[in-house]
Amino acid sequence: MSVVVIGSGQAGFQLAASLREAGYEEPITLVGDEPGLPYQRPPLSKAYLKGEVGADHLELRPAAFFADHRIGLAHGRIVAVDRVARRVTLEGDGTLPYGHLVFATGARNRVLPVPGAELDGVFYLRGLADADAVKAALPAAGRVVVVGAGFIGLEFAAVVRKLGHEVTVIEAAPRVLGRAVGAAMSEFFAAEHRAMGTTLTLGAGVARLVGEGGRVVAVETAEGERIAADLVMVGIGVVPNVELAAASGLEVDNGIAVDAHLLTEDDAVSAIGDVASYPSHHADNVRVRLESVQNAADHGRCVAARLTGKPHAYEAVPWFWSDQADLKLQMVGLARPGDEEVVRGDPATRRFSVFRFREGRLVAIESLNRPADHMLGRRLLAGIPTLTPEQAGDEGFELKRLLA
Ligand code: FAD
Repeated sequence: MSVVVIGSGQAGFQLAASLREAGYEEPITLVGDEPGLPYQRPPLSKAYLKGEVGADHLELRPAAFFADHRIGLAHGRIVAVDRVARRVTLEGDGTLPYGHLVFATGARNRVLPVPGAELDGVFYLRGLADADAVKAALPAAGRVVVVGAGFIGLEFAAVVRKLGHEVTVIEAAPRVLGRAVGAAMSEFFAAEHRAMGTTLTLGAGVARLVGEGGRVVAVETAEGERIAADLVMVGIGVVPNVELAAASGLEVDNGIAVDAHLLTEDDAVSAIGDVASYPSHHADNVRVRLESVQNAADHGRCVAARLTGKPHAYEAVPWFWSDQADLKLQMVGLARPGDEEVVRGDPATRRFSVFRFREGRLVAIESLNRPADHMLGRRLLAGIPTLTPEQAGDEGFELKRLLA
């Protein structure tokens, strides 16, 4: 049974590699609409943006890997899926039959919905082409405004501040990283960015971007404040690429709806990575759509196991990291707003963790420059954690004892 994967990003690549690792012999084709070899995105807002590594460093594997493992790489955009005939249509380039089809179409940037968003000097960061465009524009841009204080926005802010640019971050929510971490970690990151010399404007919506001669020159907030800008980076989240799946009649629920085995209602079609909306064991079996390397890679492995006769429900513990200046944030588990926060260690030392509890049960850990807590959290959350909030907050209590 031939496998066709739409999207040759992190999830699609991992699926193909894991299939071959498990001894799958049938044809595998990755169809991707970005040029070049499959690559990793995290360095785009970190080492690659800083200029510490080149584009070749981003490739998930060299070209020889794909040839040696008989993984077909087709460049192009799939524009239609016929689930009855089991074939996909490539833009301007014929059709491709499949035995099993996998949507690994990822997500795209949410566009800033205000007048002026189309001006020159306004950038987004999702792919290598975006990173190259903004890198080329940065040397001429003294004043940088970042819209959105999520991970991409803050990672970008940290790098360009370090490069010497004047940086203002505008965020509509009252705190930074508000969708991802609790109040204690948000507060810490806000203070750190301010200490780096970045101006944070929180609780402020963007009303419009002001242009002169087709180029952005300022960002105007809903309150009427004008912030001068030579370059604007927009990081206000992503939208999953679900349109193709929806047009083929598949259910969409924030992402492409799949079951706990990452299978759609069509047993010849799976969805993985940023685009998949699945019931998570770590979210009381409520559907989630996660945007992380771990999620994309483990989804790929899970579907590869099913297609090679070892099916299992997807239960991997979700984890994520973000690097901002010398701060390494690592998160494990899934917290929700309102979950209790127990701080372990002293934030003033820039080494601490926040343990998140729901009804007394550990659900997530946010660790700052404390990788041991994170690694232990991954093991704890893979089972039924017995850690209490009192133990979490007591530095004298050895967490390792819980694994004994
Ligand atoms: P993608 O990697 O987006 O791949 C999907 C591919 O499908 C894309 O190439 C897309 O163009 C293609 N495609 C879509 N539709 C079609 C079509 N119709 N035909 C053909 N091809 C199509 N995660 C972390 O865990 N830690 C980090 O520090 C981190 N940093 C990040 C920094 C940046 C700048 C970005 C953008 C992301 C970061 N992430 C990070 C998130 C992580 O990279 C993503 O979660 C991961 O790439 C998702 O993999 P994916 O395969 O689902 O989607």
